[in-house]
Parts: sequence; structure tokens; C-alpha cells
Amino acid sequence: MSEPSKPQGRKFQLPEHLKEYKGIWVIVEQERGSVHSVSWELVGEARKLADKLGVKVGAVVLGADSPELNAICGDAFTYGADVVYKVTDPVLADYRTDPYTRVMTDVVNTYKPEIVLLGATTLGRDLAGAIATTLATGLTADCTELDIYMDNRSLAATRPTFGGTLLCTIQTLAYRPQMATVRPRVMSMPDRDDSRTGRVVEVFPTLREDDVITKVLSFIADREQNEAQLAFADIIVAGGKGLGKPENLKLVFDLAKVLGGEVGVTRPLVQAGWTGFDRQVGQTGKTVRPKLYIAAGISGAIQHRVGMEKSDLILAINTDANAPIFDFAHLGLVGDALTILPALTDAFGKRLS
Ligand code: FAD
Repeated sequence: MSEPSKPQGRKFQLPEHLKEYKGIWVIVEQERGSVHSVSWELVGEARKLADKLGVKVGAVVLGADSPELNAICGDAFTYGADVVYKVTDPVLADYRTDPYTRVMTDVVNTYKPEIVLLGATTLGRDLAGAIATTLATGLTADCTELDIYMDNRSLAATRPTFGGTLLCTIQTLAYRPQMATVRPRVMSMPDRDDSRTGRVVEVFPTLREDDVITKVLSFIADREQNEAQLAFADIIVAGGKGLGKPENLKLVFDLAKVLGGEVGVTRPLVQAGWTGFDRQVGQTGKTVRPKLYIAAGISGAIQHRVGMEKSDLILAINTDANAPIFDFAHLGLVGDALTILPALTDAFGKRLS
């Protein structure tokens, strides 16, 4: 990772009382023993940042004590954590903003990490905002890149701004910890190293169920199971306005089926009701990182680009040779998607059958 470009006015020196804050933490998101993969992506990213700063990576695992929770603590080491803070109490069995915020505020005030990272998921966004408020510190949401300014050792948290037309890098200079959320699949998944172990710090908060006003009446399994699994697809064929009319989206589905991939779209197609929001790729949709991304009839606007530019191989099909997508696609076909898509489906269908 290269050093970010240097903004003005960052000669700020950290107040003496904040210098005791050390280490980078990731709050591991787990529900009923199942960990959201963004947590391991962030442990991998925290490892890189911590090695730059020469500090330790801490993973915070909260829940009711169980064999599944112990297994998660072990996994945290294999992905790069040095210390696991295992915070257990029956009240923490299911996520609720109030007890999780209270406990995390206490744990941060006790152990004083300099950086705290969470996934920009529904749970992570809720918890990050609540903790940042009770800790009275800064939070940069939905980051696309994290780095360290080595001269003042602060977190450089980069995120899209002004509707995605600019990227801005934000520092939290006068407060600790520095907090950031990052969307799933923005950071790459670290390799597991099963030989890694570390120190477990057990924390037993004193919580009373009667003090929590929200109650969990039932647990409904992740509704995303029925939705397009774009974030984890290895191959995505995506369509844009260049397809002309809703019926032509079938050409995209046909090619995706032959390749064993998923279908993505640009926002105008969702807004026009061609398909559901779960297929939207981009700033206000999903961030994807497939091995192959085929973009058909897509101009490559910045709001779409930020959601797919980390794909390993981008093939763009567009009638306009000057379309912005050709600026960052690895391969380009200048031509009509309505004839190229069926030709590809036909060719791959023959090869793969
Ligand atoms: P267009 O920009 O209209 O491009 C269509 C392309 O198809 C053109 O390049 C054209 O040359 C080409 N074409 C035409 N006919 C053919 C043909 N027969 N064969 C091949 N190519 C053809 N957009 C997103 O996608 N995701 C987001 O999450 C998102 N969030 C946004 C958030 C905000 C706050 C705002 C303001 C906008 C957002 N947008 C988002 C919209 C974004 O700015 C663009 O408008 C959108 O990505 C453009 O979609 P498109 O490429 O399908 O359409």
C-alpha cells in the first residue's frame, strides 16, 4: 500500500493523554455462531496496518459463552489476530444495540485501542455509530481504503463523497480510538494460518436482562439467503441501460447461467423496475470482487465503478469506444451487447457442455 497523498494541516500532535491508546481492533460480527466474512477481511487488513505501526491486532468476540464462540476465537488467530478479547454474558447471546454498546464502551475505555474497525453491515453500522457516540470519537463510515500516515501515526480512512464523485481521506486527530467501517469484499480475504495462536483476554461484563428494554422475540435467518449472492460470486455478468429494454436482460441471465455466475445491474435498471435492488452493483448497491466481471451496456460511471473495480478481470462490452468503462476495464469489446452476449453464451455453452 502506498502512502496516501498528504493533505494540508496534518502536523497535529496527539495530546499526551491519548498516546496510551495502542493497537488495532476488529469487532467480530457473529450471529448464532456464524461469522460475517467481512470480519476476517478486516482482521487481515488490521494485520497490515498493525505491522506498519508495530502494534498488535485485537479481535473482539462478543456473545454468550459456547463452543461455537470458542471456535470463533481460534479462527481470529488464524486470520491474523494477536489477542482475542472474549466478552461473554448470556445477555449478549443475540445482538442488541444497547447492551453491546454499553459493553464495548467499557472494554474500549479499559484496554484503549487506537483504531477500531467494523464491517459496514446492518449490525456493524448500527454498533459503530452507537459506540462512536458514547465514546465521543470520530467514525468514518463505508471506507474503501485504509492506511496509516506514518509521520503522525494516524489512520487515513478513504471513502467516496459528494455522491461518489470524489474520494476523500479522513483523519481523526484529536480523539481516540479512531473508528471506521468497511463494506464486505472491499478488502481481500486473508489466507488462514492454522499454526497461529495468541492470548485470550476474557471479559465478564455485569449485565442484567431487566436493564435491557429491547427483547428478542424470534430469530429469522438471514433473508439474504434468498437474494442474489453477488458479494461472493466468482463470475458476474452485469447489464446496464445499453441493453435498451427489460426483455434484453435475459441475454445477461443466459450468459451468467452458462458461466455459472451471478447477474448484476446498474442503478437505472433497478430504478426502472427491471430487477431487484439485491442485484445492484455500486456505491449504493453491493461491492463485488469476482474473478471475472462482464459489463454489458454499462458506461462505467464512478458510482458503479467503486462497487466493481477490484474485480480480477473486467471485460467491457460497449458500442461507444470512448465510454469511461474502457479506462479501467482489462479487456474491451466495442460493439453491440445485444449480439455479443448471445454469441458468448453460444460459444461458452459449446465449450463448457
Ligand atoms: P448509462 O450511463 O446510460 O450507460 C449506458 C451505456 O451503454 C453507454 O455507455 C452506451 O454507450 C452503452 N450502450 C448503448 N447501447 C449499447 C449496446 N447496444 N450495446 C453495448 N453498449 C451500449 N449507479 C450504479 O450502477 N450503482 C450505484 O450504486 C449507483 N449509485 C448512485 C448513487 C448516487 C448518489 C447517484 C447520484 C448515482 C448513482 N448511480 C449508481 C448512477 C450512476 O451515476 C450512473 O447513472 C449509472 O451507473 C449509469 O448506468 P448505466 O451505465 O447502465 O447507464
